[in-house]
Amino acid sequence: MLNIYNIETSNYVNGNGCRYVLWVQGCDLKCTGCWNKQTWSFKQKKLKSIDEIFSQIKSLAHSLQGVTFSGGEPFLQAKVLSVLAKMIKENTNLDLQIFTGYSKEELKDEFHIKLLKYTDILVAGRFDMNKPNNNQTVYMLNNNIDAWLFNNSDVEIEINDYMDIKITGYPTDKLIDGIKRECI
Ligand code: SF4
Repeated sequence: MLNIYNIETSNYVNGNGCRYVLWVQGCDLKCTGCWNKQTWSFKQKKLKSIDEIFSQIKSLAHSLQGVTFSGGEPFLQAKVLSVLAKMIKENTNLDLQIFTGYSKEELKDEFHIKLLKYTDILVAGRFDMNKPNNNQTVYMLNNNIDAWLFNNSDVEIEINDYMDIKITGYPTDKLIDGIKRECI
């Protein structure tokens, strides 16, 4: 089972094109300026089986370019995510992008390596909002797909009929404050 913070089935700011994005729950890296601190806790948030997630991805595959794993810290759940990644890569044409707070050199245990085997684009390194590209490095692990250009000003905002707001990407505090003022 995977401990998940959130899933978006159509998101445009976490890789190329329309993406299924899975944010896992749990991270102990405490990066500078992390804007996802609600994902740090290792307490159970939403538990989902990889079969359930894969079947949703497969049913949406026709409208997606890829799948993104983010967090929280995906490589802390690498054992289960590597099985999901294998299912995605062996049964769909979707690309797989992963955001991690670890450096590429730190990803060396058995399950890290297994997960990396199915990863097309890795965005790695301790996040620091005050450094260029948020202090992260983009690794093209599969050169047969389109490169991803890091853009830390991309933001996606979704507001439903009930005025529930979801913000993904790289919002500034000023933007978040402005949206709250207008919508809450
Ligand atoms: S790895 Fe991600 S979730 Fe974890 S502290 Fe760093 S930015 Fe936050």
